[in-house]
Amino acid sequence: MPHRYQTILLFGAPGAGKGTQGKILGQVPGFYHLSCGEVFRTLDLTSEIGKTFMQYSSRGELVPDDVTIKMWQQNMHARTVLSDYKPSQDLLVLDGIPRNVHQAELMKKHINVLLVVHLVCPDKEEMIKRLRRRALKENRADDAKEEVIRRRWQVYEKETFPVLDFYSRQIVREVDAVGSPARVLEHILQHVVPVQESHFQNSLTDETERP
Ligand code: ADP
Repeated sequence: MPHRYQTILLFGAPGAGKGTQGKILGQVPGFYHLSCGEVFRTLDLTSEIGKTFMQYSSRGELVPDDVTIKMWQQNMHARTVLSDYKPSQDLLVLDGIPRNVHQAELMKKHINVLLVVHLVCPDKEEMIKRLRRRALKENRADDAKEEVIRRRWQVYEKETFPVLDFYSRQIVREVDAVGSPARVLEHILQHVVPVQESHFQNSLTDETERP
């Protein structure tokens, strides 16, 4: 399957810092970051899909898989057409997707997952604190209510956590999510830089081998 996007997944519980780290990584040449939650939040909330998003996210639930994957695919295609994301040059860094095993299955034909970076935080309450702080700062409806935060966590444990087993153990790396963003970034880079370098090696080889 030659047309799959070469991908790194940022994986972890709500509040683990996937968005923060993804944004930083996305600033580095050769990486392209896409947060599924962010794409949803930028939708026109009066549109059909925007309403669906609000309906589910305000309860801490996942948007149905068919809607999510279709939206993701269209979004990726648009970014590729605009040359914002260049699949032959950039490693795709996905955060917030796939969010359950079914989504992982549906995405199999679109992405080649080279690495899964699992941001691990042993202290659930610490992450819930982070979500509360973020809700205040960013005016996020889904994290403003305690019950919604708790529901988001339940959904993570029941539906999202099993996604880790969908991928080979050999490509999963655990990174401690506790610490300053710079420290967490340092650890993530240790894992992703070699993958990106070998990716580029490959694309260089591909270039020179082309007749
Ligand atoms: P952030 O990463 O910025 O915290 P989230 O990823 O938590 O944002 O997304 C917010 C909401 O968007 C989720 O609670 C869910 O309703 C919806 N959402 C985001 N990604 C997905 C996905 N892959 N599948 C289904 N719903 C999603």
